[in-house]
Order: sequence, then structure tokens, then C-alpha cells
Amino acid sequence: MQYLPIHFDTRGANILVVGGGPAAEAKLRTLLKTEANLIVVDTSVGPEVSRWASQGKLNWEKRDYRESDLDGASLVYAATEDDALNATIAASATARQIPVNAADQKAACRFITPALVDRAPVLVSIGTEGTSPALARALKAELETILPPETGAFALKTKVLREKVKALLPDLADRQRFWARILGGKDLSAQLRVSPEGLESQVEMELAGQDDIAGKVLLVGAGPGDPDMLTTAARRALHAADVIVYDRLVSDGVLELGRREAEYIYVGKTPGEPSIGQTAINQILIDKATEGLSVVRLKSGDPLIFGRADEEIDALSALDIPVQIIPGITSAAAAAAAINASLTTRGTNRAVSLLTGHDAKGFAEQDWASLARPGGRAAVYMGVGASRFIQGRLMLHGAEGDRPVTVVENASRPNQIITYTTLRKLPDDIAAAGIKGPAILLIGYAERETISSERLAV
Ligand code: SAH
Repeated sequence: MQYLPIHFDTRGANILVVGGGPAAEAKLRTLLKTEANLIVVDTSVGPEVSRWASQGKLNWEKRDYRESDLDGASLVYAATEDDALNATIAASATARQIPVNAADQKAACRFITPALVDRAPVLVSIGTEGTSPALARALKAELETILPPETGAFALKTKVLREKVKALLPDLADRQRFWARILGGKDLSAQLRVSPEGLESQVEMELAGQDDIAGKVLLVGAGPGDPDMLTTAARRALHAADVIVYDRLVSDGVLELGRREAEYIYVGKTPGEPSIGQTAINQILIDKATEGLSVVRLKSGDPLIFGRADEEIDALSALDIPVQIIPGITSAAAAAAAINASLTTRGTNRAVSLLTGHDAKGFAEQDWASLARPGGRAAVYMGVGASRFIQGRLMLHGAEGDRPVTVVENASRPNQIITYTTLRKLPDDIAAAGIKGPAILLIGYAERETISSERLAV
């Protein structure tokens, strides 16, 4: 980050703009919104600048620039139509340690003015460090649609309501949670359009219901990794959580949706390595909920599939700690989506099994005979290490060696890798692919054939 974004307090500051032509006018249009004393130096200025001067919005010194103009300036804009003069002004200002912006001369600038979405007092500034002005414009256009014109009024109303909330919730953490609930819901753009009266009644209702939200545990599905695959409920829960207890396979992109102030507790279990036990995890959930905090227990995929959810639900329920479950997209669904395969296909399979390759005792036994029957289809979790075992068992029970198998590693993530193989070649192809990330084995699922145009026409 070469440029540090800061919001500069302009009250009482002198801002010098050298130049009165089009470049200066563009800068002044933003500067006029501030509370600075604006001094414009030039022998002649454009009609807009002249009008602002006659309205008393700025002081126009009708003469040539001289170095003493820099005396007492907090910021300087070298915005004449003469590049050489702009460079001289920039050099003098920099020598005096006064931040300067020189029109169209990025190298001479000590600061640049970002693209701005102005919903004062809410300001969003967008900078690309000069890499892509077009991207900055596109982002600005997008943010303009997300932030409705009412955003500023919403923020101002919040300022008044904060006092009221503070009186009732003296604890800072309680207040942060409170506002996270007001703002973390549904659709932020829609919420910002709420009238000041509407916001006030929401705040009152939420204050009245204060007692029943804290001290519960939400078992939240983090999905396969891509934050776009989270449910809105999961996003909201993450945004409101005081404590986020998360597993190894929860992606960074999803974790980033929690508040910075939340407490993050990693309880991942790495296969084959000593790690925190389930009882210790249960205890963390109990302790944090008993403290009255709102706890999110974040599990990869769906929390109810190979997630040991029962053990946590039982431990919490035994102490009457409320538990709520927010489902997630399980990795088998994400893996199938990655290869455009339907998990069930009319005429091919009436059932699909979700299997684990491992259980507490080692490689997991299954109803191999039924899976081995022609058309048997399954999605295997934790199956990479067990692939030779699974292949052996299925073929022993008569499954054909050329049954297709597709392995999807890191489904939905940027490093997703798909390996198409067959039951016969499964362990060798898994070894050859060097799979290190989490993977699903889709047994009975092949690469989708491209449908010929004749078939589509029928
Ligand atoms: N509750 C999770 C499963 C947890 S068990 C769910 O519903 O998906 C852990 C196993 O999930 C991994 O061994 C792997 O088989 C699978 N898995 C998790 N994330 C995955 C991903 N992004 N891509 C492929 N498989 C994944």
C-alpha cells in the first residue's frame, strides 16, 4: 500500500489551489464541500471559479503565483494549465513538507484524491494507486447503486440513537452486538433506505427484545469454501457473533465475514495429528454461551453431515443452552456442481449415498454389496486416504472396474482440481494427482458428455 487513505479534517485549514482553469475547477468542485479556507491564485479564472469567488466561497488572488503563497497552507493543489509551473510548485511544497497534488503528474504528487461516493457524512473513497482509473469508475458506479441517497440521513439518525442505546446498554461489547444486528440483517441497501422514524422503531423493538439473543450457540454451515456459497442467514450470524469457533476446512474468505472485534477460536482437527478433542470443543461452546456471548460454531459444508454436530447439540442441550442450526452447502453438492452432474438421474439412480471413508475405527465399512450393483452412486467424504480400500471392497463385491469416478478437490475454491478416472485406476490416479486439499470422490459420476446439437434439437 503506497498510499494511506486518511480523512483530513478541513476545519480552519488553508488549502491553496494554484490555477483557475478546468483542472483547478475540477478539484474545487470537491474542495467546496469541505470546511477549509480556499485560496485560488491565478491571473484569470474560468466563469465557475469566478462565480464561486463572488459568492464568497473562495478567495481569489488575481495575480501570478509566488512561492510565499505556500506560507501557512495545509494542502496545495498545483493545478495550472502549465505542466512546468505545476512541477515547480510541487517541488517547493514538497521541500516544505506540505502535501501537494500536481495535476496530471502522479510522480510529483504527495497525495492523490480518490474517486468518491459522497453520502455525507458517509464517504466511500476508492483508490487504485493509479493502476486502473476505469476500475475505480466501475467500482464507484457499483457503490453508487448499493448506497442509496438516504445513507447520509441514516447515519445522522444513528448518531442520535446511539445515545439512547448507550444509556440502556452501558457495555461496549453489548452495543457492538446490538448495532451488528440492526445493520447485519437481510439486505443492507434496503436497510439504509429505512426512514429515520422506521430506524427508531427498529431500535426500540430490538432494545425491548434484548434479553433473548445472547447466550446461544448457532451451528453454522460455512459451505465448501467460496463465500458466495454461504446462506444469508450464515452471513448475518457471522456478522453478529461475539465468538467464532471454527474448523480446519473453513476458508479464510468466509472467516473474514466475521467482525474484527469477535474472538476467533480455531479447533481444527488435522488427520493423523494430535488436536483438540471433542469434549474440549464442547466445553468452549458451553463456557462462551454461559458468559452470555453469542457464539457461532462454524463448520465446513453443512454442519449436519460428518460434522459431529450431535455431540455438540447434546452437550449444549443438557445445560439448556439454546442451539440453532443454519444449514450450509455440503461439499458433495459443491463437487457435483463443479462437474455439472446431477447427483440423482432419472432412470440411473434412485438413491445416492453420502459415505465417509474413515470412521473412529479406521477405514469405514459400508453396505458394499448394494453400492457395487450396477448404477450404484455415492459421494465419499474423507475418502482420499481410503481410496484403495474402497476400490478393493467395491470390486470384491462385483463392481465393474470401468465404473467412472470423479475426484473433486477443493470444490468451489480458486484451487479446485477435478480428476476424472475409473474405479480400477482410482488409487493410482489419486496418487498421480497429488491431492492435498479436501476432496470428494464421486463414484459412478463421469465427465459430462457434450450434448450434440442433434440431441438438443430433438
Ligand atoms: N460437513 C462437511 C464435511 C466435513 S468432513 C460438509 O458437509 O461438506 C471433511 C470432508 O469434507 C473432507 O475430507 C472432504 O471430503 C470434504 N470437503 C470439505 N470441503 C471440501 C471442499 N471444498 N471440496 C471437496 N471436499 C471437501
